[in-house]
Amino acid sequence: MIIGNDSHEDTFGKMDWCKICGQYDWTKGHQCPPVFTVWEYGMDEDVDGKKVFATDAERAAEKYCTNDVYREAEWNQYYEVLVRTPTGVLHKYEMNGEMVPEFTASEVTHFSKEKRNDQTAG
Ligand SMILES: [Zn+2]
Repeated sequence: MIIGNDSHEDTFGKMDWCKICGQYDWTKGHQCPPVFTVWEYGMDEDVDGKKVFATDAERAAEKYCTNDVYREAEWNQYYEVLVRTPTGVLHKYEMNGEMVPEFTASEVTHFSKEKRNDQTAG
């Protein structure tokens, strides 16, 4: 909402990556999410625990697996992770990964640009 001479940029700043939590957000008014400690079940919290910025414990577990486990993951492997909240509460999650398709675009150069092939042409 724009009030008086206050522009959108004056109010929110600009969109940028936060240098602390890595979130893409407005530079003004941004607050980093809380920090959770996440580690694989059976490992040592003090040695293997990773600090993860997240909005809740479940997101922290997902973020941890996406960022840290993904590279070494074997599909269908079952993970259990422990999450310690900023207030010290411990949660345990079983994690299931799934493959997600990733698309790459390669432009087709040998087609007629004279004709409109799309169905939505008016
Ligand atoms: Zn931040």
